[in-house]
Amino acid sequence: MTARSPGFLLARLFGIEVRLDWSLAIIFALVTMNLGLGVLPSWHPEWGLPGVWFGAVFAASLLFASLLAHELSHALVARTQGVPVTRVTLFLFGGVAHLENEPPSARAEFLIAVVGPITSLVLGFLMTGAGLWLAGPELSSIRDATMEEARVTFSGMGAGVTLLLWLGPLNVMLALFNMVPGFPLDGGRVLRSVLWASTGDLLKATRWASNVGQVVAWSIMAIGVLNLLRGNIGGGVWLLLIGWFVNRAAKASFQQQALKHALEDVPVSRVMVTRLDRIAPTLTIDEFVRDHVMAEDQLVWPVEAEGVLLGMIAFDDLRKVPRESWSSTRVRDVMIPVSQLSTLPPGAGAEKALEELTKREVEQLPVLEGGHLLGLVRRQDLMRWLSLQMGPKPV
Ligand SMILES: [Zn+2]
Repeated sequence: MTARSPGFLLARLFGIEVRLDWSLAIIFALVTMNLGLGVLPSWHPEWGLPGVWFGAVFAASLLFASLLAHELSHALVARTQGVPVTRVTLFLFGGVAHLENEPPSARAEFLIAVVGPITSLVLGFLMTGAGLWLAGPELSSIRDATMEEARVTFSGMGAGVTLLLWLGPLNVMLALFNMVPGFPLDGGRVLRSVLWASTGDLLKATRWASNVGQVVAWSIMAIGVLNLLRGNIGGGVWLLLIGWFVNRAAKASFQQQALKHALEDVPVSRVMVTRLDRIAPTLTIDEFVRDHVMAEDQLVWPVEAEGVLLGMIAFDDLRKVPRESWSSTRVRDVMIPVSQLSTLPPGAGAEKALEELTKREVEQLPVLEGGHLLGLVRRQDLMRWLSLQMGPKPV
């Protein structure tokens, strides 16, 4: 029932939560290992083992600081465009700034999307420029140098220059990758905002941007397969993963938009489920499991006394209770109390329900009137409503 914990809270900047997804730990380890085993020992054998690994961890941290700067720029511009942002999550493929609503206009979407790559590009040029400037004229001779001469030149550079010349080009690459027009990457959002401005139709613009995104995704995966065939396993797997991710995100973004469109002006009372098994707070977990959990295919149960909703208990909540205390624990001790649930009034729009479901990362929302539970709006019901609205499937 509770929102899934979206990673680990790192800091709060400008009133925005900065979270790290656990998948980031994998990338952090890969980047650090790549630096510690490959790049730094060849550039700076004189640093020794501790120096190399300290440098690797420090450089990987700076890379994530660059990612963070990129995401924060989205968040801060979103805020100036009237779209609140409460958190930024860094994860496997970069980051997400969680916008509370869709941008209000094509112009706002354009500005919010384009600022991220611009930030990375500016950071990249500044770092590369500073690195080259600090390295001085020695580096310009490197173009014609042999590998061994190049290695000697690099090892002559200070730690600061090494970091700048590693980080700068990576930021430029980050900017370029994000400008790939694969919706919902930044480039895809820029594309959508342009289509939106020229057609005036957000749904159509989203469909086109999503289609382009899927084409881009399949192209990335095809390049990944080519890499695999040529024996570049690491690069190939990486490209396949990115392509798969972009493809999935592109499809999901269009579905989300289509759903929002179909749900406009529909009250939640028309899409909620009302035939629910409701349980008493005094049931023991043993009784609850025997008479309800195993007997029905419901996944959450409203807990009620005298027609008033006290809380909700989900199948997943049962895992918190050790098996041996099932007979002594009551439902009311395990349920999420109504004060901690987000609820909707019956007059709320289904579009609003979808927004809340997405924002809170929950599967259902109770619809309440004067403390009484009227029904539950679940994600799957919204999907069912949508498929009814679409009519027969074209063959
Ligand atoms: Zn971005």
